[in-house]
Amino acid sequence: MIPHANLALQTPSWQAQLSGAVREPTALFELLGLDTGKLPAALRASRDFPLFVPHAFLAKIRRGDIDDPLLAQVLPRGEELEIVPGFGTDPVGEQDANPQPGLIHKYRGRVLLMASTACPIHCRYCFRRHFPYQDNRPARDEWQQALSYLSGDQSIKEVILSGGDPLTASDRQLAWLVTRLAAISHIKRLRVHTRFVVAIPSRITDECLQWLAGSRLTSTMVLHVNHPNELGDDTLTAVRKLKTAGVDVLNQSVLLRGVNDDAATLTTLSEKLYDTGILPYYLHMLDPVQGAAHFAVSEARAQELHAALLAALPGYLVPRLVREVPGESSKLAVSSHSPS
Ligand code: SF4
Repeated sequence: MIPHANLALQTPSWQAQLSGAVREPTALFELLGLDTGKLPAALRASRDFPLFVPHAFLAKIRRGDIDDPLLAQVLPRGEELEIVPGFGTDPVGEQDANPQPGLIHKYRGRVLLMASTACPIHCRYCFRRHFPYQDNRPARDEWQQALSYLSGDQSIKEVILSGGDPLTASDRQLAWLVTRLAAISHIKRLRVHTRFVVAIPSRITDECLQWLAGSRLTSTMVLHVNHPNELGDDTLTAVRKLKTAGVDVLNQSVLLRGVNDDAATLTTLSEKLYDTGILPYYLHMLDPVQGAAHFAVSEARAQELHAALLAALPGYLVPRLVREVPGESSKLAVSSHSPS
C-alpha cells in the first residue's frame, strides 16, 4: 500500500485535488455509471492496494465503459488476487539496492531518492505496489545520511527523484533537497519521475518551477503516460510551463494488455506526446509484479508492436522497447524485427 502522509503541508489547489480523490470503488462505479457486476471484486482487490483516482484523471475516463483504457489502469480487479508464478513482490530487485532509507543505488552514475512515499493516483500495474515504504520515509537526519552518501561517491552524476511520486512532497521540502543536491559539485543532473502531469496537472506551480529549473542542475522531467486519452489541455498547459522554464520533458510508458497493446494506440500516443511537447523515451515491458499479471504482453507481441511503430513513425518518435532485469547494469533493450 502506498500511504498518503503529510498532505496537509501541501499547497491548497493540488492538495484539495489529492484530498478529494476517489478512494472507494462504490463511489467510482457510481460516478462513472458502471455496471456493478465487477464491484464486489473491486472491493476485494482494493483492500491490499487501495483505489486512488483524482478527479482530473477521472474526467478523462468514458462513462459507462468498463473497458476504458484509463479506467483499466486504476480499477482494482479480481485477477489481482491470483498468485501467478514468476510474478513477485520485488520484481526489479530494488530491495537489495537500498543502502540508506529513501535511497536506491542500482546503476552506475545515478541514484534514486524517494522524495515521497505517496502518489497522486494508484496504478494497478505499479512495480512498487509491495515496496516497503514504511522503511523508506527518511527523517531530516536520515536525509543528511543520504546526502553524505551522495557526497562520498564522485561517480554519481545524476539524482532521480522518485517515490511514490516525488511531487506529493511540498515545494518547500523539494526546494530544501534540491538546494543541497546542487551544493554537491559532482552532481550535474536532476531527473524527476512523476504521474502528476496527467493525474493532477495543476501541480506544476510557479514554486515547483523555481526549485526544478532554478538551480545549477540540468533538469529533466519524465512523465508516465500510457494512453493518448491521458493527454488533455490541462497537461498541455503544464508541459508548456515546464518547457518555458527550460525543463526537458520525456515520457515512458508501460506496455499494458487492454490499455495500449495495439499499434494504432501506440502510434497515436507518440504523435500526441510530441504535439504536447513531450518526447517518447521508453516503452517498458511490464515488471512482473504480483497482482499485475493480467496486464502482461508477451515479448513476441511487444516486438511486433515495436516494429509497427518503426514502420509508421520517424525514429525520434519511436520509444525504446526495454525491460528491467534484476542485477543487470542497465535496462535491457528488447530488439524488434523489421516488419515484413
Ligand atoms: S506507477 Fe508511480 S504514481 Fe502509479 S502507483 Fe506506482 S509509484 Fe505511484
